[in-house]
Amino acid sequence: MISVEQALEKILSCVDVLEGEQKPILDTMGQVLAEDIYSTIDIPPLDNSAMDGYAVRSEDTRGATQQSPRFLRVIDTVMAGSISECEVEPGTAIRIMTGAPIPKGADAVVRFEDTDETERRGTPGKTGILGEVKAGSDIRRAGEDITRGSTVLRKGVVIRPPEVGVLASLGRSKVTVIRRPTVAILVTGAELVDINQPLPAGKIYDSNTYSVAALVRRHGGISKILGVALDSEDSLVAMLHQGLDADILITTGGVSMGDYDVVKDVLAKEGEVVFWKVRMKPGKPVAFGKIKGATKAGIARNILYLGLPGNPVSAMITFELFARPAILKMMGKKKLAKPTIEAVIEEPIINEDGRRIFARAIVEKRDGQYFARLTGPQGSGILTSMTLANGLVIVPEDKPRVKKGDIVQVMMLDWNEES
Ligand code: AMP
Ligand code: MG
Repeated sequence: MISVEQALEKILSCVDVLEGEQKPILDTMGQVLAEDIYSTIDIPPLDNSAMDGYAVRSEDTRGATQQSPRFLRVIDTVMAGSISECEVEPGTAIRIMTGAPIPKGADAVVRFEDTDETERRGTPGKTGILGEVKAGSDIRRAGEDITRGSTVLRKGVVIRPPEVGVLASLGRSKVTVIRRPTVAILVTGAELVDINQPLPAGKIYDSNTYSVAALVRRHGGISKILGVALDSEDSLVAMLHQGLDADILITTGGVSMGDYDVVKDVLAKEGEVVFWKVRMKPGKPVAFGKIKGATKAGIARNILYLGLPGNPVSAMITFELFARPAILKMMGKKKLAKPTIEAVIEEPIINEDGRRIFARAIVEKRDGQYFARLTGPQGSGILTSMTLANGLVIVPEDKPRVKKGDIVQVMMLDWNEES
């Protein structure tokens, strides 16, 4: 049986970064930029005012104080979006609003707060300057944010709201990003019923389709739900063929040692099995391989196949460990690992069979230190435990027990991540 690291390495060695696609900037959040972005303009385009006030010649404010204002004649008003046709000559000022271009002749802005304006003692057509300003005061220089010709964003950057804003400031409406992978999801099990159907005796609702699709979406993929296959090769093969235009095909269930566990055989027939067991708990039966698929345009290619275990908790945890990094790599991301922290464990954990345990835990910070406690019973069918957990305590395969108070590694499931 291979280790978690070996399994991940085998998977990632089969993953290629996908091609780029042009999209409206607002639709690219979380995707990776596939082109360098240069600016063809200065931003701001012109020197402009940082404040509402008066554009002046700084030398005209020399000696101005509260007690003895320097009076300047107001010759024009300029608002953001307009350019004043007047020039500030000695002894004059132009009323100016934030963002408006600095008029000719002026070299500083005096904010309204530093004039007699706010005290309502001004004289019409004049402004009393109540303090000295230096040349350049409250002027935002042309190109101080972005200079024309410079590289503003580099290939490989993940698009977040600030990048969307910067692209908009350059006047870019579309941008090339690495496309999102399509992940086809097929669940197996004669006991499964879709959530839109009544529940007959002996059956259960299919939750894996939905938890896996939610995970795919959370990590930036596009989910393609194929539905429920029965536990027979024929049913599985027929449904699987609906997903061969995807980038990854994920199945759940039918991958262990039971009489009706046909996933492995189907994978062997339709493609190639790379491994099907990993030394971990939950989730020992995880199959990985490649299967013959075709692009939407009909060009033959291999697609990745991940056969996750059927147990709802195991399916989610093996997804986090193996499917998530594959999706992220396809999307061109560099950081593939979940953040891991050290915490004090508040209860013992026994590791009976030398596998790596991923125990669902609640992690809290108290007095600058992380503490982790288990969510309760760790059965891999107890899906509600995943709603309580924000991390997975890792017990290494060579560690038969962890004592209360030991320091453990915790892989965080929710860590500065917003839903
Ligand atoms: P299997 O891996 O097919 O042996 O399934 C292991 C356990 O997970 C069984 O109890 C199944 O009923 C359950 N299970 C399998 N697939 C799903 C699913 N899609 N939704 C909910 N439970 C499932
Ligand atoms: Mg089954």
